[in-house]
Amino acid sequence: MSSLLERFKRTRKGLPCPVCEHSGWCMVEFDGSGEPVRVLCPRTPSDRRWGNAGYLHVLRDDGRRPEWNGVTVLRTKTPSAAMQARMRHAQERLLFGDHAVRAARELGLQPEALIALGAGIEWSTLLFPMRDEAGRLMGVRLRRPDATKRAITGSRNGLFLPSNLERESEVFVCEGPTDTAALLGLGFHAFGLASAGTCTKMAARLVARIAACRAVVVADNDDAGLASAYRVAHSLRLMVRDVRVVTPPSEFKDARDWVRSGATVASIRAAVDASESVGLVVIGGRS
Ligand SMILES: [Zn+2]
Repeated sequence: MSSLLERFKRTRKGLPCPVCEHSGWCMVEFDGSGEPVRVLCPRTPSDRRWGNAGYLHVLRDDGRRPEWNGVTVLRTKTPSAAMQARMRHAQERLLFGDHAVRAARELGLQPEALIALGAGIEWSTLLFPMRDEAGRLMGVRLRRPDATKRAITGSRNGLFLPSNLERESEVFVCEGPTDTAALLGLGFHAFGLASAGTCTKMAARLVARIAACRAVVVADNDDAGLASAYRVAHSLRLMVRDVRVVTPPSEFKDARDWVRSGATVASIRAAVDASESVGLVVIGGRS
């Protein structure tokens, strides 16, 4: 047992347990790329007890994964001090060494875009702060390497806001942090929604605040994505004169895919020019 345990590292402040999210007592084993493989967690039971060390959780080696707790909602009005501290630690870690460059390269993004969004990193999981339109922290989205979405316990949905968004004449509205980062990386002004069709009132207050003349909602390339993009567009239309919905060409599933496959400022600009302005007060329609 003791020789086995030598392969495990103890969790600590800023690098919490991938299973229970606490930073003391739990142990994590990594593969060569620094990805957590197995966890010994005394807090979260599994069907394999390892003596006093806790319960064994196999995150990966045979394709099995534990059931995650799911995205927990959200009763408190303000995020806990623990959440803010955890986000800050993760941000500091992303800025250390080549973390930002490596994380960005894996996703086909620019490191500057991750940094502008205030992203952080824990092991190989990216953390993205969700904020309200005034920039207050509402919650933290976790993005694991397998692209599963969770939020830190106690999170509320919010916007993915770049630090440099001020008064802008045009702003792109994306779904999720990585699509937002993709457009930021090309030099567009952009912010993201927690997921499709959420936080529409917050988004409307934000576009009013930055006095945008045009908002471009970037839809995922499927029926559900398009429907929620139009819902967002209609609520923004109350605040902005010119609101458009743009979908990536049919071979790309979302904005990040589009950008990673070579979309340029010119090709996205052309798609915006080719789109039509969404009309005011059309309920359930697309005109
Ligand atoms: Zn744990």
